[in-house]
Amino acid sequence: MARTDFGPPDYRQMIPPIIAENYGKWRYHTIPQPGVLKHFSESGAVLTSVRVASPRLVSTDFVRDICDIADEYCGGHVRFTTRHNIEFLVSDETKVEPLLGELAAKHYLVGGVGHAISNVVHTQGWIHCKSAVTDASGLVKSIMDELHDYYTGKLGVPARLRIAVACCVNMCGACHCSDIAVVGIHRKLPSIDHEMASKVCELRSTVASCPTGAIRPNPKLKSVEISDEKCMYCGNCGAVCPAINTMDPDTDGVSIWVGGKVSNARTTPKLSRLAIPYLPNNPPRWPETAAAVKNLVQVWAARAKPGERIGEWIARIGWERFFQVTGIAFTDKHIDDFSHATTTFRTTTQFRL
Ligand code: SF4
Ligand code: SF4
Repeated sequence: MARTDFGPPDYRQMIPPIIAENYGKWRYHTIPQPGVLKHFSESGAVLTSVRVASPRLVSTDFVRDICDIADEYCGGHVRFTTRHNIEFLVSDETKVEPLLGELAAKHYLVGGVGHAISNVVHTQGWIHCKSAVTDASGLVKSIMDELHDYYTGKLGVPARLRIAVACCVNMCGACHCSDIAVVGIHRKLPSIDHEMASKVCELRSTVASCPTGAIRPNPKLKSVEISDEKCMYCGNCGAVCPAINTMDPDTDGVSIWVGGKVSNARTTPKLSRLAIPYLPNNPPRWPETAAAVKNLVQVWAARAKPGERIGEWIARIGWERFFQVTGIAFTDKHIDDFSHATTTFRTTTQFRL
């Protein structure tokens, strides 16, 4: 087979020898303490993984530090989980306690395993993406400053809790399938600089960039026009044509969605649904958003049954009760009025209050 430089290298070149030797033989795992997983193989081998939170956008100093720790305790083996947790893979039992000691001394957060908040996954935010309505890393920092006790296990939650932040509705993160998702939103029709559009924008690709067909050519101005009826304020067109401005610091903000999950356990995977349509974009600490997420976690933690994810808890108590117990106002914004939305409407007359 021809060798190419496309794609990542074969993962089997990088896994620890203990995993390669016991491939397909791992039988079960235990969680002896928050953040620590012990994996048992039918061969008798034991692998301990120690999970710590990462700030997601990491500095070279941080990368060097976790590499040094991995060299010292894990034979150089470390992995990132899908939610950007760092997992140190320890095959020598005698090194687990010293590793935990060094992590504690360096103030790493150990946790995020089992019934706990996992690392908050987020998108690129102001640091990189030109479409960002809000920041992602700053929001996550503000939220996790409120919730880190649920990561380390100091405070308990009834089930796994996945939180995600996306800085616009394109949602590069896992927002649609997270228990709680914060999504940056525009709320105004994009403005168009027609003179600039006629000079710098590729009109066909600008029209094609709109997922809802809201843009059509304006031959008179050699530009485009946008239908307010069809636009969902996603900001895609602004990324394609610099003459279209979707940003508005006065009206942009964030929304909060709840109840998504990927897991097939107990119930089928679920898409998250709108809980809070708008909160102000309030950097650098986003107090309204952090408080709203904390309230959702606290109400769910106090009321859900063991093992019940947020979406499953809402399905049991009903959305009417969810709005009551969380104190969130139900507004016209919660009613899906988009084209083809009728397929999502609840058509029963039964309400659970
Ligand atoms: Fe860019 Fe939107 Fe993705 Fe954020 S969610 S990184 S703004 S495309
Ligand atoms: Fe289309 Fe999104 Fe631009 Fe609105 S903001 S016109 S929906 S691409």
